[in-house]
Amino acid sequence: MSKPHILIIGSGWAGFYLASYLSTSAYSITIISPRRTSAYTPLLASAACGLFNFYLAEEPVRSKSRSSIKYHKANVISITFSTQTAHCIPAFDSPSPSSSDISNQPFDIPYDHLIIAPGCGTNTFSTPGVTTHALFLKNVSDAMTIRKLLFDLLEKASLPTCTPSLAASLLHVAIVGGGPTGVEMAAELDDLAHHELRDMYPEVAPYIRISIWDVAPNILGAYDRKLYEYANERLVRRNIAVETGAHIEKVEQGAFWTKEKGKVDCGMLVWATGNKAVDLTESLDVRKTTRGLVRILTDSHLRVYKSKAEDGDEVFENVFGLGDAADIEGASLPTTAEVACQKAKYLVDFFNDRAKTNPPSAKPFEYQQKRLVSYIGSHDGVIAGRGDQEGWTGRSAWLAWRSGSVMWTRSWRHRLVILLTWLLNSIFGKEIAKM
Ligand SMILES: Cc1cc2nc3c(=O)[nH]c(=O)nc-3n(C[C@H](O)[C@H](O)[C@H](O)COP(=O)(O)OP(=O)(O)OC[C@H]3O[C@@H](n4cnc5c(N)ncnc54)[C@H](O)[C@@H]3O)c2cc1C
Repeated sequence: MSKPHILIIGSGWAGFYLASYLSTSAYSITIISPRRTSAYTPLLASAACGLFNFYLAEEPVRSKSRSSIKYHKANVISITFSTQTAHCIPAFDSPSPSSSDISNQPFDIPYDHLIIAPGCGTNTFSTPGVTTHALFLKNVSDAMTIRKLLFDLLEKASLPTCTPSLAASLLHVAIVGGGPTGVEMAAELDDLAHHELRDMYPEVAPYIRISIWDVAPNILGAYDRKLYEYANERLVRRNIAVETGAHIEKVEQGAFWTKEKGKVDCGMLVWATGNKAVDLTESLDVRKTTRGLVRILTDSHLRVYKSKAEDGDEVFENVFGLGDAADIEGASLPTTAEVACQKAKYLVDFFNDRAKTNPPSAKPFEYQQKRLVSYIGSHDGVIAGRGDQEGWTGRSAWLAWRSGSVMWTRSWRHRLVILLTWLLNSIFGKEIAKM
């Protein structure tokens, strides 16, 4: 008998977890994703600032140990639920304009069970110029672009023709978004500026300025007041400008405009704001959230709701939604890797149990709230409280963040190399210029 076919859309935290742990002896598995690697997103800011090599911040989808899993480098553009078919188009960076080129030829993949996990894009809030002039931090190639631009700016500022005022503009790094991603990016850059860059670029490193811009009244708004005020005070003490209540109006090459301060020169602007639904999520004919971020709605077993109930059936029994792209009706869980992985584990248990005992357990998904942890630079961090337990700050919070970040990687080889790199960095400094 042929094995039931599970089709997974997306190779991010949710899709990659499923592909790593679903039973390949019970199921034939296919992943469709434009990315042939899965990024360990919590490690991206560190990778951009040279804490370790880029390859440690991602994992390839294809693996020797699970070679029976099929992967196609493509985007799913639509799904016909009635015929259980996903319609796909290959995803290559520079496809040939010729329609006979294989990279332009659409294809269909049938499924028995479908997992929808295409994540989210970055929300630019339709701000003019952002897609052209800002940098993002969603995957390893974004982290590489940030690092390359940083060194190009340092080299430009070091040219004999560069004036001090131009050096100050070039070496202003503005980060839009005061959530954990924006704050960690600022913290890692500041650490780099105060250590390796000071030695490598002694003449221009003093011109480096870092600023965080957010429309909200506070940065790290998901934390308690005591913690976000602490983070704010520590960042400002290290000369990181924290500009809250700031409305970015447009971004151009070398500058951006805010409603409050007018034109601000900068050499690099990293856009690290909220999420936006990807095209597939927007276009699917299923029930979705009606307010805020557009997400696919599922029941508590992660089954996707139909747009209209058919013959009394409200959900597709064989279609599941998870990760940032989906939410359980009435739950409003955050868009985090933690939630994506817990839901993926739930589905792995569901499918692997089902292969052994049919029907599988009917237990609904329950989210186990973990503590929020953020790095704020200079070996300091903030950890949110939980229940009756208070949050805390300082070196022990940094150590908890550090050890947590190494546990994000699922490969022991990656963990060992990261630990070894940290040890070598602490003894000899980062090898940043060589990467
Ligand atoms: C810099 C950064 C740091 C973060 N730090 C943390 C942290 O410390 N802790 C935490 O819990 N969370 C963190 N997050 C959030 C976390 O990364 C996301 O919540 C998580 O990636 C969501 O997983 P996902 O599988 O839903 O989506 P993603 O990981 O975004 O993966 C989606 C996948 O689907 C693919 N895809 C998109 N459209 C299609 C399509 N049409 N067809 C096929 N494939 C498609 C994408 O290419 C991608 O491979 C961080 C995020 C960022 C950007």
